[in-house]
Amino acid sequence: PTVLGIDIGGTKTMAALVSGGTVIEDMIVPTAREAGPDAWLASLAQSTSAWSGRFRRIGIAVTGLVEDGRWSALNPATLGIPDGYPLVERASAVFGKPVCAFNDAQAAAWGEYKFGAGQGRDIVFLTISTGIGGGIVCNGRLLSGLAGHFGLIRGLSEDRAPLEDSTSGRWIASQALKAGFKADAADVFGRALKGEAWAGAIVSQSASRVATLCRDIQMMLDPKSIVIGGSIGLAEGYLDRVRAHLGEVPPRLSSDLVAAKLAGHAGVIGVADLAEWAK
Ligand code: ADP
Repeated sequence: PTVLGIDIGGTKTMAALVSGGTVIEDMIVPTAREAGPDAWLASLAQSTSAWSGRFRRIGIAVTGLVEDGRWSALNPATLGIPDGYPLVERASAVFGKPVCAFNDAQAAAWGEYKFGAGQGRDIVFLTISTGIGGGIVCNGRLLSGLAGHFGLIRGLSEDRAPLEDSTSGRWIASQALKAGFKADAADVFGRALKGEAWAGAIVSQSASRVATLCRDIQMMLDPKSIVIGGSIGLAEGYLDRVRAHLGEVPPRLSSDLVAAKLAGHAGVIGVADLAEWAK
């Protein structure tokens, strides 16, 4: 059966009709960051209204913490959400269909595990995007709650701030501004590829922090692979820089780093599958 998968991120929102791990149709709209969740749901219901006869269930993946159908921001800088927003209740009312909700990176981890780069083997998924998210599939189970929120770990940053505050797309843009350039992360990558040293240095710093994170994850969870997604994780040259920063590690201790195979669709594919099987 076809499920409507929705993925609300700090920069963009995707909606897709998904069947058996395949996207049939999709659309992307910018996330109107200041408008808030009621407005996002209302506008999504409107923009997907032409699809309404084609699915019975809805899976929504969102950045932040999802528990008991309620949604809260963990890092309000990525996307501001009222604490404990009743996401499942409001979305069911707006769409008039059963809704399940999950964290976006956990949903993407499930998508990559089942239909993408994980090939059914235990993985840790990392998304390097506006913020940094992650998901853990261990012994074939997706860990829920706070598990996998690697962007919020503090041990790797000098000032004990959340890791994403010194690594993510938001950080890359803020560093560009400090260097005197009004550029978003995508621009910084473009300039790095053209050989502009200041841009290359920022990207490299981000990649080196992700490399250290991967090494620590290997020691904590020993996944078969670490799957890297997100627009930054998948940007040209980024994964190679992470690998270069990993350097020489004895083979048994090194991580198998692979690019997310479902690319931008991992979240909607994963959440659609989770919604299909949820009771
Ligand atoms: P979200 O955070 O909404 O899930 P993305 O995974 O697309 O969305 O991440 C958005 C971040 O990725 C922004 O910081 C944006 O500037 C950056 N970005 C988008 N496209 C590219 C690109 N081609 N190369 C590098 N960075 C990109």
